[in-house]
Amino acid sequence: MPTIEIPSSLLPGDGRFGAGPSKVRPSSLTDLAATGTGFMGTSHRKPGVRDVVARLQGGMRELFSLPDDWEVILGNGGATLLWDALTFGFIENKSQHLSFGEFGSKFAKAAVAAPHLSDPTIIESAMGEHPELVTDEAIDTYAFTHNETSTGVSMPVVRPHGSTGLVAVDATSGAAGLHWDTAEADLYYFSPQKCFASDGGLFIALASPAACARIETIGASDRWIPAGLDLVTALDNSRKNQTYNTPALATIFLTNHMVEWMNDNGGLDFAAGRCATSAAHLYGWADAHAMATPFVTNPDHRSNVVATIDLDEAVDASVVSQVLRANGIVDTEGYRKLGRNQLRLAMFPAIEPDDVVALTACIDHVIAELAS
Ligand SMILES: *Cc1c(COP(=O)(O)O)cnc(C)c1O
Repeated sequence: MPTIEIPSSLLPGDGRFGAGPSKVRPSSLTDLAATGTGFMGTSHRKPGVRDVVARLQGGMRELFSLPDDWEVILGNGGATLLWDALTFGFIENKSQHLSFGEFGSKFAKAAVAAPHLSDPTIIESAMGEHPELVTDEAIDTYAFTHNETSTGVSMPVVRPHGSTGLVAVDATSGAAGLHWDTAEADLYYFSPQKCFASDGGLFIALASPAACARIETIGASDRWIPAGLDLVTALDNSRKNQTYNTPALATIFLTNHMVEWMNDNGGLDFAAGRCATSAAHLYGWADAHAMATPFVTNPDHRSNVVATIDLDEAVDASVVSQVLRANGIVDTEGYRKLGRNQLRLAMFPAIEPDDVVALTACIDHVIAELAS
């Protein structure tokens, strides 16, 4: 690797641009440490800790302007575990999945493998684009990803026209960075280590009354459901501001810290606005660049939270990422399975839009040095 020192005047204040786990605000960690002996290491069934679960639920209600009859369900295991739970306790018989990247395809695979479900419909598109849902009376659950973290494609949350099925959205990297309307979804779920600048380990699922009714109906049926994947248990515990088993307390603390920061500064408009500002700069830079091009060609499909930028073959993107890393700018590598000469750059709410501007100046510097 060539030794290139980026002038310190060009460097961003914080060099973390990874798509997850992503930048945690330093003040969140300082405040967590300052809890000392009063929080970590105390019982999750006692008021002090139940309060932080309740705060998380209230913070999500405010951030997403949830109608009063929605529930905020949380539990251990992250979005990946929730896919398995959904195959047991949410999909009645047949689901439809949009598959346009790593994450949507994983949920689709879980539904294919579940022996008690009919084979799902899977609608694919080329990487870098997204397909559309197709209304079908046989479908009881429509599943798609708000933001495909692997490819940098986002899609609007929209109910298929005239459908009776419920809409379940994996918003792990989109929630808090992209707008959506509760009228268009029934289950909107995520893990907090992306836009929520927290750590992994939890799933948070915002559930409409229809989603809760579905969970309770399947829970009352004779379908076998493993206890740890039982959404009725998760729902019952969430109503008591608890989780079924011991939750990741630091993750909850850091999530609250971020949610409260976003709510105090203007809520979803503020958080998604920061991402939009960063994205406008980054795509504008790439569009105008001789050596860089946004991988996602349709501007409507380009994500405001994760940008995938192809570099000209004259520049090795992995070398650019290595040089950036040596200068403290980390996790800009492309998604390996896409196999492109690409940088993948997160623009989550915690990332300063000014740092995204600094990042592109640093990339310019590295590309110029590599060419000289
Ligand atoms: C990161 C990610 C996941 C997986 O989250 P885990 O917490 O690791 O289970 C799922 N879906 C999307 C869209 C993601 O970005």
